[in-house]
Amino acid sequence: MTNSYPRSDERRRMVELQIEARGIMDPGVLSAMREVPRHLFIPQPWNRDAYADAPLPIGSGQTISQPYIVALMTELLHPKPTDTVLEIGAGSGYQAAILSMIVKKVITIERIETVAEHARTNLANVQAKNVEIVLGDGTLGYPLSAPYNGILVTAATPTIPEPLKAQLADGGRLVAPVGSRSIQDLIVIEHHGDQFREEQYGGVRFVPLVGKFGWEE
Ligand code: SAH
Repeated sequence: MTNSYPRSDERRRMVELQIEARGIMDPGVLSAMREVPRHLFIPQPWNRDAYADAPLPIGSGQTISQPYIVALMTELLHPKPTDTVLEIGAGSGYQAAILSMIVKKVITIERIETVAEHARTNLANVQAKNVEIVLGDGTLGYPLSAPYNGILVTAATPTIPEPLKAQLADGGRLVAPVGSRSIQDLIVIEHHGDQFREEQYGGVRFVPLVGKFGWEE
């Protein structure tokens, strides 16, 4: 990915006013947010507002998160260049593209086929080569490439799906919005031996995680 994508001034302003101003400091996160062309992940006509301080529709009733929430969740993962990260809920592919700039390998799972196809196109457009998109129920995780240094759940879940905890590497971190269908808390879990330490962050709103260990359809 190069920084030659259009609308780089809008991205610079987005990072300064929405992300740095709210306390995000991880240099890798800030530079990824400046580089990845968010407008290429959002369909018309909403792509005009791609750099606004808001979530936006991406089709099939799904949404791309507000830029600040993407930055916050990425920072909370403590991503490192040697990491393999699993994302649940590929959506537009934007969060996966941000992660792909920072870590070695990203696997992202999406349950809706047309959404997964769009994510694949979007990620190919920005030449993100270290991202694998898997079609399926992400509440089961993806045992094939486990364990993961980081797991990011980008849909609202009533509880942390057990298979995801089981696929978290020792020292790994999991970030997920946990709560009701309408409002959730951002939860971070860090795995150490047989312990799972939990921290809570502010309130967030995500579309529901639908699957065996999530909500019913
Ligand atoms: N991270 C995305 C936004 C996610 S929106 C982005 O950067 O654009 C939440 C996505 O989770 C939706 O696309 C929805 O279809 C998907 N989803 C919901 N339940 C899922 C499940 N069990 N497994 C995989 N994907 C799921």
